[in-house]
Amino acid sequence: MKVTGVGASEGVVVGSVFVHTGGGPEPERQKISEDAVEEELGRFRRAVEAVVAKLSETAQRLETSGNANEAAIFEAHVELAEDPELASGVAERVRDLQSPEAAVLAVGEEYAGVFAAMEDEYMAARADDVRDVASQIATELMGHGAAGLDALETPSVVVARDLAPSDTARIPKGKALAFVTAKGSKTSHVSIMARSMGIPAVVGVGAALDGVLEARTVAVDGGEGCAIADPDSATVAAFEARAEEMTAKSAALDEYRHVEARTRDGRRIEVAANLGSASETEDALEWGAEGVGLFRTEFLFMERPELPSEEEQYETYGAVAHTFGERPVIIRTLDVGGDKDLPGVDQPAEENPFLGWRGIRMSLDTPSLFKPQLRAILRAGSLGNLKIMFPMVADVEELRAAKAMLAECRGELESEGADVGSVEVGVMIETPAAAICARDLTSEVSFFSVGTNDLIQYTLDADRGNERLRRLQGADHPAVLELIRMTCEAARDGGIWVGVCGEAAGDPALIPRLLELGVTELSMSAPSIPRAKKLVSEL
Ligand code: PEP
Ligand code: MG
Repeated sequence: MKVTGVGASEGVVVGSVFVHTGGGPEPERQKISEDAVEEELGRFRRAVEAVVAKLSETAQRLETSGNANEAAIFEAHVELAEDPELASGVAERVRDLQSPEAAVLAVGEEYAGVFAAMEDEYMAARADDVRDVASQIATELMGHGAAGLDALETPSVVVARDLAPSDTARIPKGKALAFVTAKGSKTSHVSIMARSMGIPAVVGVGAALDGVLEARTVAVDGGEGCAIADPDSATVAAFEARAEEMTAKSAALDEYRHVEARTRDGRRIEVAANLGSASETEDALEWGAEGVGLFRTEFLFMERPELPSEEEQYETYGAVAHTFGERPVIIRTLDVGGDKDLPGVDQPAEENPFLGWRGIRMSLDTPSLFKPQLRAILRAGSLGNLKIMFPMVADVEELRAAKAMLAECRGELESEGADVGSVEVGVMIETPAAAICARDLTSEVSFFSVGTNDLIQYTLDADRGNERLRRLQGADHPAVLELIRMTCEAARDGGIWVGVCGEAAGDPALIPRLLELGVTELSMSAPSIPRAKKLVSEL
């Protein structure tokens, strides 16, 4: 059976199916007999120990691979699993003859309810953590082993309704062969993650996902956007042959990894990487990144139970700046809201979150969140060539307010005697308003970076994650190209440079058009860099 969706990350692969349901387990028994109470309590304690051991192992693995933020999630889960109140709540129910798996799910649900009802958004967000831990203990008790993505041992194709950044962060390195999801589009986060992991992905397959969920193996073509459930041997052979061909093609691009991209008429185009965490730095350099055109700082905030401190942010930004040395690293300030929730910040429910309190709007209204980040970036600026970039700006007033806060932080740091870097300022052009008013913005900044992912969705009124709106999700729409043209023209007249950090930057079909319009920097998922450099050198 063949299902089609959006080809979100190129490559072909055949592998066994690993279904990630994201839902909780169902208890297999509700009741136990009176004489089994002590034995069942013993089983519960052993299940907790087993879950704690697995969680600690994952935390340790993440810590040693440089993912301290992701490790913190698992450390917090260890504490929840060992919570004495959870144990006493379960013991009480088991003594009332409820099975331990039913008891732990019920107690977990009770606690989750208490957390969810809390005013504090951060505490409310803990509800999901409690549910997660309780369901891991219940799964262990039922003898199924952990069903989470962190338990993926055999390299497999991950099939899921949707995958959040925190899901993909749990996958052990090299264990996901591809993603197939019901939801999503080319610019949704699962697609961005697949491209930066260098694995194929077919997203937005909708209800057809059911056909893949029941398969044992699946052949995935992330370029064509199709997946074949339980392929026959001829299909497997054809896919394997294509995979080999693609590996050979990619090897042929190796010679472009470390060249400086220049068009045939001598125009220098900087090809940089988009990063979501400091742990991607080494890979990016290996792919030939000449800098970082977009460091998405929100992952540092979203994938962990508490907000990162100024010190921790300083260390993260500083590590990337230090590794890239002279080469530029653009740190984008926090861009949450819309589809990105932030634990620890009171985000009111909104009718239209994509048109709501997000990006720079939220940062400007929350100095307690924004100022530590600005201070961390300024301090890390002394360790390399850091630049700062503000997201979701709609007009010059917002940009000036953000710059005023940056200047305030600089003043504070200087009076404290801290080392501060020079740190150029840029702005993302990702709202139609910013593109239309680009002329007002040029005198305030050193560069523009076009965020085509959001610019497309706001120009064409088409949600970037909605699989039904494929026709309206490309940067080649004349309205989007016109806004990019206006942006480049304003930048040229204002004497500043323009980069693109949306997904269009790595799209071979769009690169020639972007360069024609005057773009001089392209920032993309690292594995796309060699192909982009080759293309540029042929133009
Ligand atoms: C964009 O909108 O194009 C962009 C690069 O930002 P993000 O994908 O993180 O919203
Ligand atoms: Mg954006």
